[in-house]
Amino acid sequence: MQDDLEMLLQLQVIDYDLGELERSKEYIPDMMENLRREIDESDRQFTDARQALSDSKVTQKNLELVVQEKQEALKKLQNQMMAIKTNKEYDALVSQIDTVKEAINENETSLLEVIERIEKLESEIDDIEKKSEETRKQNEKQLAILQEKMDSVGTKVRMKEDERTNIKVRIPRQIMSTYDRVRKNRGGAAVVPVRKRACGGCYKALSPHVIQEIKRHNQLITCDNCGRILIWQDGVSE
Ligand SMILES: [Zn+2]
Repeated sequence: MQDDLEMLLQLQVIDYDLGELERSKEYIPDMMENLRREIDESDRQFTDARQALSDSKVTQKNLELVVQEKQEALKKLQNQMMAIKTNKEYDALVSQIDTVKEAINENETSLLEVIERIEKLESEIDDIEKKSEETRKQNEKQLAILQEKMDSVGTKVRMKEDERTNIKVRIPRQIMSTYDRVRKNRGGAAVVPVRKRACGGCYKALSPHVIQEIKRHNQLITCDNCGRILIWQDGVSE
């Protein structure tokens, strides 16, 4: 019986590993997807910053041209002042000059803002590029590791299944069917150690008599609450 229980424990470890391998078929692709998304995201941040920088430089050029044109227009209007004959002409010209001056002011304010934006972007863009390259390097390394894991899942599953078959044939059929039934009904562990004088699976307290029976290891004892197979494990079951 002791040997049967030990083999059941080995089987349980294999079943746990098989479960993990099955789960990894789901979560490895998810992890890979996240890593790829991170690469795209940091690439996009760099591309956006570079685009914003070149757009801002175009805006700067355009504003400089507008300011230059307005200043030439202003000079012309100021020259016309010399030839003014009437008050009416004078008022009209002053009004025109004010309008142009206001336009120059507005465009110069925009120009300052755009220059500030360019300086900020230029100071940031190297960091953004470095960060993007670093993210790509790190994530591609991770992706290669995960791809390798993914590629080997099938082989590992087959190896574990072979191990399982080898152990299974050595376990009495009746014990095996109890194990399979509990696993199916409860999921996860079907064999649990006694913990603090209770079932290690559902925590229901066990009577001293049952504990003695479990310690003796000469028959299969299951928890009368959850049906799990109970074992005594030194160091765990004290
Ligand atoms: Zn139980």
